Amino acid sequence: MTTPLLTIDRLSVSFGREDQEPIPAVREVSFTVGKGECVVVLGESGSGKSVTAQSILGLHDPESTTIRAEGLELDGENLLIGDLNRIRGDRIAMVFQDALSALNPVHRVGQQIAEALIVHRGMRKKEANARAVELMRAMQIPDPERRARNYPHQLSGGMRQRIMIAMALALEPELLIADEPTTALDVTVQLQILQLLRDMCAERGMSLLMITHDVGVAAEMADRIVVMYAGKIVEVGTVHEILKHPKHPYTRGLLGSVPRLDLTSLPTPIPGGLPDPRRLPEGCVFAPRCPIATSLCATTQPTTQQGATGRELACHLEDVDGTKGAA
Ligand code: SF4
Repeated sequence: MTTPLLTIDRLSVSFGREDQEPIPAVREVSFTVGKGECVVVLGESGSGKSVTAQSILGLHDPESTTIRAEGLELDGENLLIGDLNRIRGDRIAMVFQDALSALNPVHRVGQQIAEALIVHRGMRKKEANARAVELMRAMQIPDPERRARNYPHQLSGGMRQRIMIAMALALEPELLIADEPTTALDVTVQLQILQLLRDMCAERGMSLLMITHDVGVAAEMADRIVVMYAGKIVEVGTVHEILKHPKHPYTRGLLGSVPRLDLTSLPTPIPGGLPDPRRLPEGCVFAPRCPIATSLCATTQPTTQQGATGRELACHLEDVDGTKGAA
């Protein structure tokens, strides 16, 4: 494993104002992202992955969100007490699913990229505009000088996503957080954007934390995969471990619900849905949907087993370092 850049230690997030019953969204989540590493957080919608990512940058409304953590650090800098306005953009940047709402509709896209360089790097306008065009070229935007003068609505979805990535990379952050960055795009554009992100990471030695519900995206991008279910981490492993030898029944369910190109088996969706976060099962949170649950699972939460190679697993019936669960 590489030297950690981002360290998240027992992060819990709940929503609700003081006079309301708190709704737990993330429960005791711990993982690291190494320097130059791509970690993918994988899970269904509502599993707490985006909430985890947004908590790193303090993007929640403090009036209605409670964030607790033993530690949240970027290369030794404490993000729980640090100046997040400085850290955002400067050291950590974020790319969202919906570029149209993330970009300012009344400003030209080139100007929006240049703005970050003027504000954070003190560049002169001319120099910042030239750099914005350079970044757009690096994002493989054709005719970037002309495109820089366009407004967001004049560009395609894929092009807007490239603009947002250019904005995120303008300040050369150490960590890029990408929250479902390709979900709204068609498959060909999706692959181009993923390739672009991979190239940027390799060229700049940048770390990437990617949030997705898509097993295909995880397979394409991840060095390591963190699988989340109902606000908790249920399995962590290298991309090979998770995709070739999944051990947690939820991970196996996710992989089994994906259509196979070789048509050797039909996709099987996981039955049921995520539990209501206010009424979580007493034992294992996955028990109501788990095909191999026992009476122990219904009453007792599994502890997280730490494997010899850094793998983690929260299941009573599987052994993190054993051969059970090997596909
Ligand atoms: Fe299934 Fe039990 Fe493992 Fe939970 S602990 S995933 S219910 S086998």
